[in-house]
Parts: sequence; structure tokens; C-alpha cells
Amino acid sequence: MSTIRILEPTVANQIAAGEVVERPAAVIKELLENSLDAGARRVTVDFSRGGKARMIVEDDGKGMTGDEALLSLERHATSKIQLAADLDRIATFGFRGEALPSIASVARFTMQTRPASAPSGTEIAVNGGKLVHRRDHGMAPGTRIEVANLFHPVPARLKFLKSDETEAAHIVRLVRLYAIAHPEVGFLLREDGREIFRSPGNAPLLDRVREIWGRQVAEEVTIMPAFERPGMRLSGLLGKPGVSRGTRQDLVTVVNGRPVDSRTMAFALTESYHTLIPKGRYPLAFVFLEMDPAWVDVNVHPAKREVRFRDEAKVRNFLIESVLAVLRARGDEGLPAETVPAVAPVTPLAVDVPSVSGAVPPPGPASAYVPPNSPAPVSPAHAPAVRLGWRLLSRLREERAVFETPTGLAVLDLGAAHQRVLYESILAQFTAHKPVSQPLLVPLSIELEPLPAAVLKERLPLLTSAGFDFEEYGRNFWRIQALPAWLEPEQALAFVRDLLAEMARREGDFGRPSLAYDALAKLAVNKARRKGDSLSDAELMELVQALFRTAQPGTCPRGRRTYVEWTDADLTRRFG
Ligand code: ADP
Ligand code: MG
Repeated sequence: MSTIRILEPTVANQIAAGEVVERPAAVIKELLENSLDAGARRVTVDFSRGGKARMIVEDDGKGMTGDEALLSLERHATSKIQLAADLDRIATFGFRGEALPSIASVARFTMQTRPASAPSGTEIAVNGGKLVHRRDHGMAPGTRIEVANLFHPVPARLKFLKSDETEAAHIVRLVRLYAIAHPEVGFLLREDGREIFRSPGNAPLLDRVREIWGRQVAEEVTIMPAFERPGMRLSGLLGKPGVSRGTRQDLVTVVNGRPVDSRTMAFALTESYHTLIPKGRYPLAFVFLEMDPAWVDVNVHPAKREVRFRDEAKVRNFLIESVLAVLRARGDEGLPAETVPAVAPVTPLAVDVPSVSGAVPPPGPASAYVPPNSPAPVSPAHAPAVRLGWRLLSRLREERAVFETPTGLAVLDLGAAHQRVLYESILAQFTAHKPVSQPLLVPLSIELEPLPAAVLKERLPLLTSAGFDFEEYGRNFWRIQALPAWLEPEQALAFVRDLLAEMARREGDFGRPSLAYDALAKLAVNKARRKGDSLSDAELMELVQALFRTAQPGTCPRGRRTYVEWTDADLTRRFG
């Protein structure tokens, strides 16, 4: 006869441990959160062999009395919530009261703790869930927990641990995240007693990033001032245009002091860096979002950091608007402050791109470098009379040129620069109020799949206002009678297909250009490619001028860098 039994507490804890602690970093996470919940001002973390051999978390928080310490090892013992109703307004990290008993059931666990009110502390040792001893222990107020031989009592789980290096990397990343999320707390992370980083309590964010993430990362970011919306506040640091990563490793999002993963936030950040970083790569960012806790759902899987917002679209829009504002402002700032007019007065530049009519552009003095058929200046808001102190030193291979700049030495990628200039010119015309439209002598016809055809119908007013004239003449068959002036007939069909595909992909509408970024970028890249690379020196200087009149001179529309600069300081450093 089978019997139903209540599980022994140790077994129940070991099962729970499977959920709470999947790897050493998860243990550190639970201990760190407890330290922060206990009001610690300083936390020290030390680990050996990726945490498998030993992990220690020590804090100067409020500590526990001997009885409290014993109780904390009972399942569902928590000092943090009492009623189910409390669940709706959790301000602390922990609340389940499962972490300590779970961890103690799968390791050798030693806790030393003392509240400031007690004259001395308590030490409790537990091995594989069994109490080994409890005794008095002299110490300063606070708590120190050591977890050794993780998973030795449950050997089956040892197999799932990765190499020491991998587990160590997880620990380092985790502690970095918590350290960055908690400016008020000083963190010290050590591996076998050797310091990995030390974050000063209460230092400005940029200084903390420098200490915690390293000097290089600190040089790659720019400050994002605070932005506000009713009930929301955003601030942090953002990667400079052109700086990107292959993973989300350095895309740090903190919501109400908690480091979180949020698809919404990651997406919004990546989206904002359109054309500033290559496709498929991620920006660098340290973003802090504060909001009414009632709008955030954190009560998800204990080991996961994924967070959900009640209103995802609102958060996404707020983020995109704020980040774009910072990046736009940076575009201006990208212009060197010291402007030495080393560039000769504007010289003619014959741009050899076939015009719509196929006629050769008129020779002779053009004014500034302007891509074909674009009398309008490139984004007027960013078109100050640039007097850039770049002096051409030499050509480098076919596609590059070397310049002396007011601050050092720069190598320019001609193709990338040209793409940026064309892109912004096309973008400006695409968004212009009254675009120049070019009627076609021979209309183009295009057959579309049902989905793009539906998108075309839906977006017809937008396309018409951009200078297209579409006419439907059969099921999914369309005729194009006129094109915007910046689009050449040979490129039109491919562009329209790209554009419709992109519009189908992007549902959000952050203004017209965001529906067309990729297609416009591709067009610019293709135009630049056909342009050839036989620029005269004067033309080259025009290109540089035009580049620095764009909103984002630092990157091409695909997000690759247009130029690399070595400052005098960099060079001095290189010479050692
Ligand atoms: P939870 O954090 O969900 O409450 P835990 O098992 O992590 O559950 O911790 C149980 C209790 O032990 C906590 O509620 C807290 O009262 C106490 N505790 C744990 N760690 C510390 C610490 N570092 N300092 C003070 N109290 C602690
Ligand atoms: Mg806890």
C-alpha cells in the first residue's frame, strides 16, 4: 500500500534548492540580496574555484540574534513579509524565506552573525541540511556567511556546473551588477583573497563604472542626464555611437535598484542605436529606471531576473525618446570644440552619380558637397558652418585617408563617411514636408506578396506624402508613376520591397523615419558603393565637411565607425 508522507525538511529543502540555486552565482545572489535587505553599507564577497570550493559574503548590516539566526534556516522563515497582501508592495529583495535553508541543505554552511544591540555574536554550522553546531562567536556587528563544497550533498547536481572560469565569470558579472545598482553600498569582490574590484560607496556613476567595469568601458560611455515622465524617471550612462558588443553583457538595466533583464528595455535601447551600431550587435548602456513599484512585476521565477512592466509600450517609448535625445545632443557635441580653419574655402566637388534623368550633372562650381538631387541642406538643425581643423596628410590604401586633427591623428574610412552623408541626406528628404517628386515617363510595375501588398495599402498616405505615386491595377499588382527625387528608378523596386518588408516588421510608430531606417540605410550604402573612390583632395575635404554636418558623424548607417582617432594623449601613452 502506498502512503502519502510529508517530506523530511532536508529533502524538501534540497528540492527547493534546485529552483533557487542553480549555480554558485545564484548562491551569491541570494546572500548579497539578504545583505542589502539587512541595510549593509559595505559588502565583501570572496570566492574560490568559481565558487565551487568556497563562497563568503560578509556585511555590516543589522545582523541576527542567535534565535533569529536559527529560525532563518527554517523554511518559509522570513522577517520581510507576513501577509499575502504584502506581496503587492515588496520593497525588499527576498520575501520567500527559502534561500538560506535551501543553500544550507546542499552545502557546508557556516553563518556568523551579530546584531549591534547584542554584546557578541552567534555561529551556526549546518552540513547538508543537518545542524552541526551553534555557539557564541565574538565579532563586529553584521553577518558573514560561508558556503563551502556546494552540491557535495547532492552529487547529481555537481555534474551541471561548468568550468571554474565560467562559474567565476558568472559571479563577477553578478556582483558587478549589484555593485552598480547600489551606489550607497561599498562593494569589494575578491577571488581567493585577490581583489577583482572595489567600488566606492556614494561615488558618481561614471567613477563607479570605472572601478567596477574598468577604465576602457568608462571611456566608451557618455552621461545620460535624468529624464522624467509622470511616475517614471530615467538616468544613467550610454555607450558612445559606434561602440557595440556582440552580447547583452554590457547592456545593464536597473529598475528600482534591482538589476533586471527586460526584453522591452533591451529592445528599446538597441532600437535607439539604429545606424549607430552594426545590426545584430548591442549597445553599451547602464540605465536606471525608477518607477512606481505597482507598475513593475518582479514576482517571477526566483532565479530569473526577467522583469515585466504593466505598460510595456510606455516604458519602451520613454526609453527610446530619452536615449535618442541624448544621442542627438551628442551628434552636435561630436564636433571638435577647437575649430582651426585649416580647410581651404569651399571648393567644387563633382559628384559622379547618375541623376534620375541619367544626364551627367552639370560641371563647374557646386557649392558644398551635396548628394545628387538634394538641394536641401543635411538636417538643418545640425548644419552649423563647420570649420573643422582636419588637415589631410595622406591617402591610405584605396579607401582611407589620414588626417592631422586639432586633438591628434585620425584615419577616415571614405566609404563609411560617404554612406553617412548620403544616408542623412536621404533621411532628411524622406522626412521633408514637401518632398520633390519626379514623375516617371515609363511607370514601373511591381507585383507584391499578400503581406507587403497589405502593408502598402495601409501605408499609402505616408508613401504618397514622401513623394511616391502608387496606383493599384490588379490584385497585388501596382504601378509606380512617380518617385521621390532622391530615389533613382533603377533602385526603386528593390527599395520599395525593402521598405515594405521593414514596415511589416516594425509595428511601433515613432514617426515616419523609424519605419524606413533599414531600407534607407541600404539605399545609402548602395549609392555610396557605386560612387567610386576617385575623389580629389578637395572633394575629400568636402566629404569631411559634409560628414561633420551630419547628426552622427561617428558612424555609418550600418553602425560601423567612419573614423578612428588617436588623441595626442593616446599617442603619448603608446610611446610609454
Ligand atoms: P528571505 O530573504 O526571502 O526572507 P532568506 O532565506 O534569504 O529569506 O533569509 C531568511 C531571513 O534571514 C531573512 O528574512 C532575514 O530576516 C534573515 N537574514 C538573512 N540574511 C541576513 C543578513 N545578511 N543579515 C541580517 N539578516 C539576514
Ligand atoms: Mg533572501
